[in-house]
Amino acid sequence: TSSIYDFLFAGLGEADRARTAIIDGPTGAATTYGELVAQVDKAAGGFAARGFGLGDVVALHCPNTPAFAVVFHGLIRLGVTVTTVNALASGEEVAKQLSDSGARALITVSPLLAAATAGADGAGLAASDVVVLDGADGHDSFADVLAQAGPVPEVSFDPATHLAVLPYSSGTTGRPKGVMLTHRNLVANVVQNTSLGLHRDDVIPAVLPFFHIYGMTVLLNLALHTRATLVTLPRFDLEQYLGVIATHRATYLFVAPPIALALAKHPLVDSVDMSSVRAILSGAAPFDEKLAAAVSARLPGCRVLQGYGMTEMSPVSHVIPFDREDISSGSIGLLLPNMTAKIVDPATGQEIEQPAEGVSAPGELLCEGPNIMTGYLGNEAATAETIEPDGFLHTGDIVTVDSHGAFYVVDRLKELIKYKGYQVPPAELEALLIAHPQIADAAVIGVPDDEAGELPKAFVVRAPGSELTADDVMTYVAEKVAPYKKVRLVEFIDAVPKSAAGKILRKDLRLA
Ligand code: ATP
Ligand code: MG
Repeated sequence: TSSIYDFLFAGLGEADRARTAIIDGPTGAATTYGELVAQVDKAAGGFAARGFGLGDVVALHCPNTPAFAVVFHGLIRLGVTVTTVNALASGEEVAKQLSDSGARALITVSPLLAAATAGADGAGLAASDVVVLDGADGHDSFADVLAQAGPVPEVSFDPATHLAVLPYSSGTTGRPKGVMLTHRNLVANVVQNTSLGLHRDDVIPAVLPFFHIYGMTVLLNLALHTRATLVTLPRFDLEQYLGVIATHRATYLFVAPPIALALAKHPLVDSVDMSSVRAILSGAAPFDEKLAAAVSARLPGCRVLQGYGMTEMSPVSHVIPFDREDISSGSIGLLLPNMTAKIVDPATGQEIEQPAEGVSAPGELLCEGPNIMTGYLGNEAATAETIEPDGFLHTGDIVTVDSHGAFYVVDRLKELIKYKGYQVPPAELEALLIAHPQIADAAVIGVPDDEAGELPKAFVVRAPGSELTADDVMTYVAEKVAPYKKVRLVEFIDAVPKSAAGKILRKDLRLA
């Protein structure tokens, strides 16, 4: 097996052809594995006829639909490197990614046409370089591409170095960076994820965006490799999501904390039959024990799991194995096979060992393994800062490890609030705040202060009907944390700004 395409589809058995691979959530239209592979081949033939091939970068800008999977794997099959673009990106952001990645074409859909054409113009692409899958004036549609389909050319490349995808990091801590992931990186991470307990009868709502690495490899590649059924949803709408769970008897939910929060707190959940769900796994942002317990209380009998990763690790490095009920859901779980992890004190550079009992001191997590990116595109300085000469990648996250090898994320190194001489992890305060029955959601940032350096400030969304005051919030936190971690400022807001992948957009709060 050389490419991610071969790995996923070349071994498709006769018995699997009739199984349902993907259901379009909004319409219910189903595609079997046999049909999917035929459509992927046809798409590859169509794109080959347009001249796309080995060495090209093509941008895919499309919400979660079955067509995303077909185009994605059709391009990859040809040895094209796919750079996936956020469906919510502005024209300027699309232009930036097209230029930065060197994409020769953009594949989009008509609802995203405004940003797509602005982006293509900005990056100097012609209208003929923009394919609008469902059709738009002046552009080729997917049907036009398929109409030209010829044979799929034989391609050969080195899976250890050839880039399958070029996703961009979320840009939470700076500008999004193009992350170079090879075929071997993607195959490795699918193979490494054996402990999730996924099986072919699983039905998995695919609501986390495919453009982001979590949706791309965990939902698309891993679920399809398992021969499970994906139900695609183009955006997160709680009612529609719950409807899909009930209608299709969903069994395994991959979520980010905002969805977990809705499952824990939203009244709609009580009116839906969720009895088919046997596991829910949260990743992409901090998820603590209290929130996990609240989800468990709502979904009795369902395993509540957590995983951790980053774009640079294709993306997963840690998960709680499905059958390890002894590991706390507030932990990110165990290191995946074929990886090595180190925890390093950022102040001294000293390595922190796994303790014989209890929990270690906190330090930065470094990881090494076959799923680690080859580097950031066109940014050797950032690559050298991130990957040590011995192959260890700096995650930028502060973690601890317990005597059983379960890891816990404290927070991002860059987001620790520096209050006087102390470091305050906003994730800890956020977890505490959302555990309050009158708080629907919360985010904490450090705001500059002449005397203290930074002050922890909470942005709080009150639960419907709540008249909670800033003093109530500050008192509640003060009773539960060490004095240096107290929230010192409170602002009430209507909603916490979050990315499509479920991360708090702290830079938006800083601008507010
Ligand atoms: P950028 O690198 O551009 O600033 P980003 O780090 O948010 O953006 P991603 O690669 O999408 O981009 O996210 C990886 C980060 O997400 C991790 O470094 C970590 O901070 C966070 N993360 C992922 N899973 C978890 C988890 N289970 N708990 C806490 N944080 C998590
Ligand atoms: Mg990052």
